[in-house]
Amino acid sequence: MVSSRVRGKLGGKSGSRPAKAGGAEQEVSLYQADKIRFHRAADLMRLDDRARAALSEPRREIIYNVPVMVSQSRNPAENGRAKSFLAYRVQYNNIYGPYKGGLRYHPQVSLDEVKALAAAMTWKCPLLEIPFGGAKGGVAIDPMQYGPADIEALTRRFTYEMLTDIGPDQDCPAPDVNTNEQIMDWLYDTYCMHASDKFNVCNAAVVTGKSVACGGLPGRAPATGQGLSLAIREWAKDHKKKPSSLRVAIQGYGKVGSYAGIFLEDMGMKLVAVADVRGAIANPRGIDARKLAEYVKGPGGGSVAGYPGAAKVSDDEFFSAKAEVFIPAALENSVTARTARLLKCQVVAEGANCPTTLEGDEVLAERGIDVLPDIFANAGGVAVSYLEWLFNHGTHLFDLAYVAKFLSDRYERNYKVIAEAVRKYKTDWRTACYIVSLGRIGEKIVHRGLYP
Ligand code: GLU
Repeated sequence: MVSSRVRGKLGGKSGSRPAKAGGAEQEVSLYQADKIRFHRAADLMRLDDRARAALSEPRREIIYNVPVMVSQSRNPAENGRAKSFLAYRVQYNNIYGPYKGGLRYHPQVSLDEVKALAAAMTWKCPLLEIPFGGAKGGVAIDPMQYGPADIEALTRRFTYEMLTDIGPDQDCPAPDVNTNEQIMDWLYDTYCMHASDKFNVCNAAVVTGKSVACGGLPGRAPATGQGLSLAIREWAKDHKKKPSSLRVAIQGYGKVGSYAGIFLEDMGMKLVAVADVRGAIANPRGIDARKLAEYVKGPGGGSVAGYPGAAKVSDDEFFSAKAEVFIPAALENSVTARTARLLKCQVVAEGANCPTTLEGDEVLAERGIDVLPDIFANAGGVAVSYLEWLFNHGTHLFDLAYVAKFLSDRYERNYKVIAEAVRKYKTDWRTACYIVSLGRIGEKIVHRGLYP
């Protein structure tokens, strides 16, 4: 069994984590955690048997060998030599629409992790009524150890290996951890070099999160953080809280965390604590979200550590910060039973995928802390990917105002549906999200029937 690993120094010790499943202490991987959550929701809602069978495992798990001639490694012994990297694409389910999901480049990418993340995409898209299925991919590589020429060669060879598996209406990758617009542009270009010119007009739809020059949408980059802020806005409205009464702590100040901080600040909330793998900072009087984002991109060299407008704090002090809203926007498994006990918040809004362990969930539930789960809270990214995909099919043009209204409307109406499921099933937000999503996908399966 591949067990999930805690990454970075926040969130606990590295190594596998024990979890109680079926009463016994045992190792639970990220994928197994998804299965436990899936079956819990399926039992509660009495999901149709056909839907449960079709959705309980991925349709396809593909493992690729990606050989690359390395030229810019930090390890001089690797330069001028060929190296093989393991890569994955898991196509979990496409009943709801074409497979869709990001590609990550990270040394700890494994089949188990990609399966869990592909499942998360499958549950995520229906929650904002986005007609995509779920997939995910990744390469087991530490991209920080290689230069741009190596990353380009890796991306182009990986795209070539995936050629028959991806396509504008088949499976469309997107950015994720350590991948960006440039990598999506290389993927797009490689795909075009091999696809028929006859279909050229739609080829850009093979991947989203591209640069604007290559058919990307200007609103795509902020979209995940923007969506996260809208999920929190709906929770605040529902709980009759004024934005100005809410303080926010964010773990991870990359693309998701920083945009969430900026959008929440614009709504009137106050950012009071921020952490990343290199350090944690706090200021009860407030941290300017935009200035901090500029600092991270400039003098901070990629980290919030050393930001002059706040004091340095320990990781535990960061988790214990007096903030009503806590946003994990780093990597998986950062909210564990231990860190969940430290939190002083009223709501956890998950910016990262899979940031809360099963035990973390239990502690948060015992303590009466709501969790707006990843599959709803961070769905803004794939929602705007859908607009980019429509745009690339050549029929629609969307400006920033359209993107903002689209996201706002989708969050407003789907929050209400999920809140209704929380009440009806007397359950937590995560289980309610699974129930709403499985209900929407399951309905299609029941109408279509199981083949043959
Ligand atoms: N990687 C993002 C996610 O986890 C976006 C996926 C997409 O746009 O297809 O939701």
